[in-house]
Amino acid sequence: RLHNISRNFVLQTVYQPYHGRRAESTLKSPRGSHHHHPPHHHSKDPSRLVSHLETSDVVPSLAKQPIHRLSLADLVKHGRPPLSEDALLASARFTLSLLPSRLARRIQALRNLPFIVVSNPNINKIYNNYQHSLSTLLPWQGRTISNLEDEIRFTEILTELVQTHTDTIPILARGFLECRKYINPSDVTTFLDQHLRARIGTRLIAEHHIALHYSSAAHFNPAASPTRCPEHPNYIGVIDTALRPASTIDSCGGFVAEICELKYGVRPEWIIDGEPDTTFAFVPTHLEYIVTELLKNAFRATVENGMNKSPIIITIAPEPPSQDPAVDAVTVPPPSQDMGAFTKDAIAPLDDNAPGVTIRIRDRGGGISQDVLPHIWSYSFTTFSENDDEPPGAWSDDALSVISAASSGSSSIAGLGYGLPLSRAYAEYFGGGIAVQSLHGWGTDVYLRLKGVAKIE
Ligand code: ADP
Ligand code: MG
Repeated sequence: RLHNISRNFVLQTVYQPYHGRRAESTLKSPRGSHHHHPPHHHSKDPSRLVSHLETSDVVPSLAKQPIHRLSLADLVKHGRPPLSEDALLASARFTLSLLPSRLARRIQALRNLPFIVVSNPNINKIYNNYQHSLSTLLPWQGRTISNLEDEIRFTEILTELVQTHTDTIPILARGFLECRKYINPSDVTTFLDQHLRARIGTRLIAEHHIALHYSSAAHFNPAASPTRCPEHPNYIGVIDTALRPASTIDSCGGFVAEICELKYGVRPEWIIDGEPDTTFAFVPTHLEYIVTELLKNAFRATVENGMNKSPIIITIAPEPPSQDPAVDAVTVPPPSQDMGAFTKDAIAPLDDNAPGVTIRIRDRGGGISQDVLPHIWSYSFTTFSENDDEPPGAWSDDALSVISAASSGSSSIAGLGYGLPLSRAYAEYFGGGIAVQSLHGWGTDVYLRLKGVAKIE
């Protein structure tokens, strides 16, 4: 019963002014298509946005559709950019086929939260974002993306979708913190784990097509602005087929050292050993997220343990290519036409790509005590405290200041308690993982294992 109340409550609030005009402009149905249901006219304000979500709730049936487990192979199957028109349209159709059911599942999961949690303004904002995004895709259901004009409109919708969901994490963090009296931490972790993992995939699917669109655009319109089609000969959409983790570590390390210097006045150092020239095919933004979070933890522990003089040691170990070529090999068709500015020589010799890499981050930060260890994978658990009087622990009010910093786009060294669980979600997304090995009193080793695409031809 509670569930129904919450559902109705939420349905009533869905199209209240929050998205207003902005939604209206993007909800125009694509050329030649018609809404399946005429808009509902019960509202006194004729400009009020009404979607057929109100008249027939499509969420439960969409949410029941089987979910497609995304692989890196899916993302390279349309070939290297610039894509031909056919390949670009195929990518758009593939993207469209995945998104509505993914959004519907998230809406369903939010509806299943306790009423008092869904009615929290922050959680409700996320709920509305999902309803809104789904409503922008519904007009595309039951039709096909068959020409470039459709594809351009569809890419605009995707761009707005990615934008709408950018700040989700601090908003959810704040929402669950405010609701901490009404929901137990393990239920929050279960919900967030599913939600944030699904979000990783949904954003990736949308961002990938957007990237393919722009890297192929010059191909159809030579006058297209060159700044919108950056020349990344090693990129296929969001995948860098020759990603060098050592470079990511150095750039993220520089960023984390800055934050550390602001907070503690010291910059720990790091050393990369093993095989720093390893490259593999992976999503750079995912690696950046993970490495930044793991380095923040290692730097913070090092400084707080008074070990600034002991560098963090990062070992990069490539994994040998798979013995069974059928398991991982992915064939990317060659570029459709003359590559123009992209010279073939500029492309990394992909056959040399190892299928994966393991990165060990070793610090002398004193390790993790037995009473802390069981909690490190819970969202919101942190031992960080801005306020020295307040004993650190899970779910502290102190987190609100960290959340405020995160919402304003600045990054703090610790305190949200999302670093480890979310990094693990990113690592596991394509079959990798994170393991933490602590030697209490001495330091911590974190093993990050990532799988790439074995072979791209
Ligand atoms: P946050 O960094 O915001 O506290 P994380 O999820 O990144 O959240 O980490 C959770 C907790 O795990 C930290 O608060 C800290 O107590 C512990 N931890 C993580 N990495 C390390 C490390 N390298 N050394 C010591 N403690 C660590
Ligand atoms: Mg952290």
